[in-house]
Formats: sequence, C-alpha cells, structure tokens
Amino acid sequence: MSVRRLGLHPGPGNDRRQALAVLLGGGLAGAALGTPRQASAGATQMAPLPADERFMQLAIAEAAKADFPFGAVIVRDGDVLATGRNLGKTTNDPTAHGEMVAIRHFVAARPADAFKGTTLYTSGEPCPMCMSAILWCGIGRVVFAASIEELATKLGQIMLTSRQVADAAPFATVAITGGVLASEALALFQK
Ligand SMILES: [Zn+2]
Repeated sequence: MSVRRLGLHPGPGNDRRQALAVLLGGGLAGAALGTPRQASAGATQMAPLPADERFMQLAIAEAAKADFPFGAVIVRDGDVLATGRNLGKTTNDPTAHGEMVAIRHFVAARPADAFKGTTLYTSGEPCPMCMSAILWCGIGRVVFAASIEELATKLGQIMLTSRQVADAAPFATVAITGGVLASEALALFQK
C-alpha cells in the first residue's frame, strides 16, 4: 500500500489537505502534521489519495438514502465490492450502521479473507462498534468524511475516535484518512 503521510504536498491541493487534516479532530491532526507516527500496531494517519473523493461521493449517496444519514462503501483496487447505509429504523436494529451493513453485504458475497487490501469509505467517522468490526475484519484503510466531534454536534456520539479504538488493538494495523468531503456529509443532516 502506498501510504502518503500527512505533510506538504506540492500543488493547489495542499492548503485543502492541511485544512482537512485539521478536521481530523483531537490532538491527532496536530501530531500527524508534525511528525508522522507509525505505531507498532493500531492506526497510521494517511493523507487523502486522488480517488478518495470519488468513492466518498458514493458513500454520501448511500447516506442520502439512509434512515440516519450515514453510508459506506468497501473498495479494493478501484472496484466497489459492497455498499451499506444506516438501516436502524428499517430493520429495527440499532446496530445497522452504514459500515456494519456494508460489511455484512461484503461477507454475504465472498470469504472474509477478501477484506485484505480493502478500503472502507464512510460518510461519518466509524463509531467504536463499527471501528471494532473494521479491525476484526482486517480492513486495511478507513476514509471518513465527518469526524465524530463534528457528528456530535448533530446527534449523540460515543466520544472515542476511530484512531483511539485502533490504537487499542495491538493485533491490527489500519490507515485512517479523515475529513474527505466532510461538509457534504454534514449537510445531509440539514435535509
Ligand atoms: Zn457505527
């Protein structure tokens, strides 16, 4: 996997990337902008990749159809392998978050080994339940739009970041990119 850590990239996208990094929340963004950090396991901060906005648009499109405005897609090598949207009311299941639904769709169609090398895009930073599921599945990268801190201004959140959950999992390594199309994701809460 090509991991570009947060830092200075040449070109017009640079200011935006730094702005996105600031949106990552907590002390994480500051730490990432200073010295790139690679724990022995847990989370690695990762800068946005060129294709991220395209896949995030798909996750946000799922969110726009959801019970609560959260959606996710699971991608590998440029292919969308599964999608999910929050179905908490539809299925009478408070655990039916977009990420969980996407994961269930993914494993319904293929062996769980296939999570290797996948990226999960989600319109909202994964909650501790979903982030734990992502780690148990061995998904290699997570890209989120709105942070838990931002989402908490819209509805109740468990105030642990995806990175905090990942850093508590010594068996897993995951790259995390935050703030991709965050304003578009948050705008769904106004509708
Ligand atoms: Zn969740």
